[in-house]
Amino acid sequence: MTADSDGVLIVGAGPTGLLLAGDLAAAGVPVTVLESRAEESRLSRALAVHARSLEMLDARGIADEVVSTGQKLSRIVVLGRTHVDLSRLPTRFRFSLFTAQYNVERVLEHRARSLGAEIAIGSDVTDVRQDAGQAEVTFQAKSGETGTRRAAYLVGADGVHSIVRKKLGVPFPGHSVLRSVMLADVRLADPPAEPLQINASHAGLAFIAPFGDGWYRIIAWNRNKQVASTEPVELDEVREVARQVLGSDFGMHDPRWLSRFHNDERQVPQYRTGRVFLAGDAAHVHSPAGGQGMNTGLQDAANLSWKLAGACRGWASEGLLDSYHAERQPVGRFVIRFSGSLVRVARIQSDWMRTAISDVAAASTHLPAVLRRAALAFSGLGISYPAGPDAHPLEGKRMPDVPLAGGGRLYELLRSGMFILLAGAGQALPAADGWADRIRLAERTRQHPSLILVRPDGYIAWASDEPDDHDRDREARAALTRWCGEAAAYSEPGSGRSSG
Ligand SMILES: Cc1cc2nc3c(=O)[nH]c(=O)nc-3n(C[C@H](O)[C@H](O)[C@H](O)COP(=O)(O)OP(=O)(O)OC[C@H]3O[C@@H](n4cnc5c(N)ncnc54)[C@H](O)[C@@H]3O)c2cc1C
Repeated sequence: MTADSDGVLIVGAGPTGLLLAGDLAAAGVPVTVLESRAEESRLSRALAVHARSLEMLDARGIADEVVSTGQKLSRIVVLGRTHVDLSRLPTRFRFSLFTAQYNVERVLEHRARSLGAEIAIGSDVTDVRQDAGQAEVTFQAKSGETGTRRAAYLVGADGVHSIVRKKLGVPFPGHSVLRSVMLADVRLADPPAEPLQINASHAGLAFIAPFGDGWYRIIAWNRNKQVASTEPVELDEVREVARQVLGSDFGMHDPRWLSRFHNDERQVPQYRTGRVFLAGDAAHVHSPAGGQGMNTGLQDAANLSWKLAGACRGWASEGLLDSYHAERQPVGRFVIRFSGSLVRVARIQSDWMRTAISDVAAASTHLPAVLRRAALAFSGLGISYPAGPDAHPLEGKRMPDVPLAGGGRLYELLRSGMFILLAGAGQALPAADGWADRIRLAERTRQHPSLILVRPDGYIAWASDEPDDHDRDREARAALTRWCGEAAAYSEPGSGRSSG
C-alpha cells in the first residue's frame, strides 16, 4: 500500500515516522516512508520509554513486546538524592522502560510493514515542494538514480537536521545549552546497586543507566574540558568524570559506542505549513535529561496520525489538522523547559548553591503533591490538551484505561484506531449508526456520571453529565459531528456496542 496522490509521504523511519506509518496503514491510508539509511539502525540513542508512551503502544497491541526488550525502573533518580517514584502512577505501566532505541524501532517497523506501509530505505530526500493540491519530494536512491513521489500530505519526521524543515524555510530558533557532552555505551565490571545514577559536582555532570541487557549508557560532561563535537572520545576521560562526580567508574570497559555531542534547545514556530507537517526531532530538540526526546516524538505521531487519516478519508475538518500544532507545540515547549531545568541545575558552578537546590528538590519530592506532579510530568501522563472555556472539565485530558462490561479494556478497544463513545455501567448510549466507520460504542463495568467521547489517541474529545437522555443524545450527536465529521447516510457492518 504505497502513498499515491491520496495518501501520505513520511520522510524518516525513526520512531516518530514508524509509529505514524503504522497508524496510517492500519487506517487503510496509503503511506510511504522514505529513509536515507540503507541498513537497520544499530544506534542505541534514546533509552527510556515512559508510561504514557507505553500506554500508546498498548493501544496498538505492541507494549508487551517492547517491554520484553528492556528493564523496568520505578524509581528514577533526577539529580543526586532527588528521585521520582513511579510505582504509584495511575496506569498499568508504573515504571519507565530502559531499552535501546533500536528495539523500539524494530517493533514499530515490523508493525508498519505488516499493516502494509511501504518503507523505502536508501532513499535520501533532497527537495520538497507543495501546491494547493499535493506535496512532492525528490529523492536520490542508493543506486544514484533520482525520483519523485507525490501525496496529499507530507510529514517531515527526519530528525534534528530535517531536510523537510530546511526546504520549507521553517526556522529552528534556539541555542546550545551544553557543549562537548560525552556518551559511552559500555559494560560494567562493578555495576552500582542503584542502577540509575545522576549527579553533578565542580568536575561536571555524569549519568549512568542500564539498557537491561548488560549494557549501560554513560553520559559525562567535563566542566573543565570543552572541545569541538568532532573530537574523539577516550574512555579514560569518561571514567575520570564518573569517578569525580559519582565516586566510581564502576569498572567500565568494552565500549560499543563512544560519541561527543552538543546539546541544543530548539523548536519550530509552526508544526504545519500547508500540506506539510513536522514531527519529532524535526520540530523540537532539547536536553537528554529526563529522557523525553523519543517519547515526545512518539506522542507527536500519535496525535497527528488519526487526524491525517481522517483528512485522507474525507471526514476531518481543516481545523482538526490545525489542532496538531495547537496541541503539540505547547507540549514541546514544556519538555524543553522541563529537561533544560535539570541541566541548568547541574551546570551551576558553586557546589554550595547546587547542593542547596538539589537538597530542596530532594526534600520536596517527599511531599505527596510535588511527588505526584513530578511523576506525572516525567511519565507524560500529565499531558493534556487545551479545551474551550465552556468545556466539560474532562475535555482535553488523558482517558485512563478502564475495564469494559463483558470483558476487555478500553485500551484494547482503542486498537481499532477509532473513537470510543463510552458510557457508565447501565447508562444509555445514543444511536450513532451514521458514524459506525469511525466510532465504537462501549460501556464501563462501573457506574460513571459522564458519557465520554474518547479520541483515537486516548484523550477525551467531549464529555457530558446531562441527566436527561434526550438532551444528552442531542449533545452527543453535535459532538460527534464536530469531532468525527458528518454522519454517513449508511451504517457499516459491525457497528454497535462493544465490550472489547
Ligand atoms: C547521541 C544521542 C543520544 C540520545 N539519547 C537520548 C536519550 O537518552 N533519551 C531520549 O529520549 N532521547 C535521546 N536522544 C534523542 C532521540 O534519539 C530522538 O529524540 C529520537 O530519535 C527522535 O526520533 P525521530 O523519529 O523524531 O528522529 P530520528 O530518530 O532522528 O529519525 C529520523 C530519521 O530520518 C532519516 N532522515 C534524515 N534525513 C533524511 C533525508 N534527507 N531523507 C530520508 N531520510 C532522512 C534518518 O536517517 C533517521 O532514520 C538521543 C539522540 C542522540 C543523537
